[in-house]
Amino acid sequence: MSVPLLDVNAQNLPLEAELKQVFENVLRSGRFILGDEVEAFEKECAAALGAKHAISISSGTDALIIALMALGIGPGDEVLCPSFTFFATAGSVFRTGATPVFCDVRTDCFGIDIESAKAKLTSKTKAIIPVHLFGQSSDMDAITSFAKEHGLKIVEDVAQSFGSTYRGRACGTIGEIGSFSFFPSKNLGGFGDGGLVTTESFELFEKMMRLRNHGMHPRYYHSIVGGNFRMDALQCALLRVKLHHIGEYAAGRTRNANYYSRRLSAIADGTNLILPTDRDHAGHVWNQYTLRVPGRRDELKAHLTAKGIGCEIYYPVPMHRQECFANLPEHSLSNCPVSDQLSAEVVSIPVYPELVEAQLDEVASAIESFFS
Ligand SMILES: *Cc1c(COP(=O)(O)O)cnc(C)c1O
Repeated sequence: MSVPLLDVNAQNLPLEAELKQVFENVLRSGRFILGDEVEAFEKECAAALGAKHAISISSGTDALIIALMALGIGPGDEVLCPSFTFFATAGSVFRTGATPVFCDVRTDCFGIDIESAKAKLTSKTKAIIPVHLFGQSSDMDAITSFAKEHGLKIVEDVAQSFGSTYRGRACGTIGEIGSFSFFPSKNLGGFGDGGLVTTESFELFEKMMRLRNHGMHPRYYHSIVGGNFRMDALQCALLRVKLHHIGEYAAGRTRNANYYSRRLSAIADGTNLILPTDRDHAGHVWNQYTLRVPGRRDELKAHLTAKGIGCEIYYPVPMHRQECFANLPEHSLSNCPVSDQLSAEVVSIPVYPELVEAQLDEVASAIESFFS
């Protein structure tokens, strides 16, 4: 039996009748940009996340960009972000004209290491972007007190962690702005691109509402320059159907992660195989179940692939080693040894909610056979 890394049909097709109905409703409404479906989706996301304001955005990448624009980040500014993350975190900073400054990460949660951030702070630092990677929250207490001490804004990159919490608080509601993605592989996976920003500040909410639509307010009057960062009404309508199931999806991912942790803890020796941590306060939603396999990662990946088990390396090249960032200042690119180490050690295995026990058994058995 082959086990794919992700099977979007297993999640979407049981909802087929409902999704078709929603498509038909939007088709017949003739309203494709903004409008009722968009507003309803935003209200429901805000409620689900416990956020005051939520605005749907064209993608998770655009959500990061609009967040940085709303905070006035631009040329001459530096923004601290982890080196071990998906490219969009860093690319968005760069595209505002600001300089991404890459910090090292922790081996437990894979999130930004505040000691590294402290070492990279300069008089130009304006903001920090903690990334809640793979479904698990970053160390928000340390990040928040560091940011407060130095007057930095916090944009939380919650693209991989819709519904995750930190000490009971929803990720995305702790910093100034939370930024989410509905890319199909994310925990709330859409039917194309989509994203969301959340904020507790009415002022930032108003500014982002304006920025999303060319900075326009009222119609054809532009006091600031925004862009077209709108998410389609159809996408919002379809995602409303899936949002109702987000609790089940998270429970399914957690059940699968717990299965692996139970099975694999017998062979995990902390040297050749290291299981992902699930810190009590971290409210993990398991977008990925990421193993560390020092020295034998590529070998394990080949072993799983040969057995028809989907697995992937998130991420093989940390940001401080990307060619496009080679000309960034020295302090942005130096001293990220843990990011280098993780890039050489990690491999993610299937953890999507619809996996059945026989599939989980297949994956676990394949890993056991590799180490025996
Ligand atoms: C997916 C992702 C993004 C970007 O989201 P898109 O919707 O694909 O633009 C940003 N940051 C992280 C950490 C991501 O995983």
